[in-house]
Amino acid sequence: MQLQRLLRALAAACALAVASHAADKLRVVTTLPDLADIARRIGGERVEVTALIKGTENLHAVVAKPSMLVALSRADVYVQVGLSLESSWAPGLLESARNAALAPGKPGFVNGSDGWEALDVPADLSRKGGDLHPQGNPHLNLSPRGGRHLAARILAGLVANDPAGRAAYEKAHAAYAVELDAAEARWKEAAQKLRGVAVATYHQEFEYLARETGIEIVGHVELKPGVPPTPAHIVELVDALRAKQARLVLTAAWSNNRQVAQVAEQTGARVVELPVAVSSAKGADTWIGMMDQIHARLVDALAQPPRPR
Ligand SMILES: [Zn+2]
Repeated sequence: MQLQRLLRALAAACALAVASHAADKLRVVTTLPDLADIARRIGGERVEVTALIKGTENLHAVVAKPSMLVALSRADVYVQVGLSLESSWAPGLLESARNAALAPGKPGFVNGSDGWEALDVPADLSRKGGDLHPQGNPHLNLSPRGGRHLAARILAGLVANDPAGRAAYEKAHAAYAVELDAAEARWKEAAQKLRGVAVATYHQEFEYLARETGIEIVGHVELKPGVPPTPAHIVELVDALRAKQARLVLTAAWSNNRQVAQVAEQTGARVVELPVAVSSAKGADTWIGMMDQIHARLVDALAQPPRPR
C-alpha cells in the first residue's frame, strides 16, 4: 500500500514537473530546420524549439501531418521564411491549428524575410504558369548573408514575445554574430575559387549564393520554378552551357534526377548535390555547418579534373 502511494505521489510530481517545464519555456515552432537551429542559438534555455519539416523535403511541396497541427496549436511563436516559400502548406496548417497568437500581424507570427530585398521579383505578380516564386526568390536560407538576416528577425521575435528575456537573447545573438563573422570570412575565401564559374542549377534556389560567390548561373533545368523541363528547354540549356563551358550542375537531394544527369552527360559538367536546408546532409546539422558544406562541395567539385566532353 505504501509503495502504491509512493508511486502515485511520484507520478504526480513528475506530471507537475513536466507541465511547469513546458510552461516556463517559450514554445517556438519553425517551418525549416534552419530557422530552428538559429532560434535555439538565440533562445538558449528560455525556448523549446520544434521544426515542422526535415531538410531533405522539397520545401515548396511539403505534405502536412497531424503532428504539425499539434505543434502549432501549442506554440507561442511561429517562424517562417516567407516570400511564399511555405505558401503551399503552412497557411492552411496555421488556419487549422486555430492558435490566435500565431495570426499574421501578431507578435507570435515571425516572418524571417521581412526587410530582405528579394532577387527575381516578377513583373507580373501572379502564379500564372505554376511559378512557385511569385514574390521573388524565397531561398534566402542559402545566402551566405541569410543567417545574419534571419538571426536578427528571430531575435526581434523572441524579444517581442518574451521581453523579460531580452538581455539573454541579445547576449546569445551577439555571440552568434561573432561566429557568423568567422564563417563569412571562410566563405569569402572559398568564393575566390568560385568567382566566374559557369553553372546550371535544377531549381532557381542558388541565386543569392551565386551573387555572393560570383558564380555565374547560365540557366536552370526547370522551365520555371516548380515546372519540369520540356525537351526543347533541355536542348536550349545544353547549348547555352556548352557556349559558356559550364563546369557544374547544382542540384539538391529532392531534385537530383534524370534530367540533371542528362544535362551533365551532354555538357560534360559535373553534378554537385548540395544541402539546401539544415539536416539535409551529413555535416549540415547547423546553418553555419550547412553553408560550410555547400562551399566545400563546390570547391571540391572544381578541384576534380574536367570530365571528357
Ligand atoms: Zn524555390
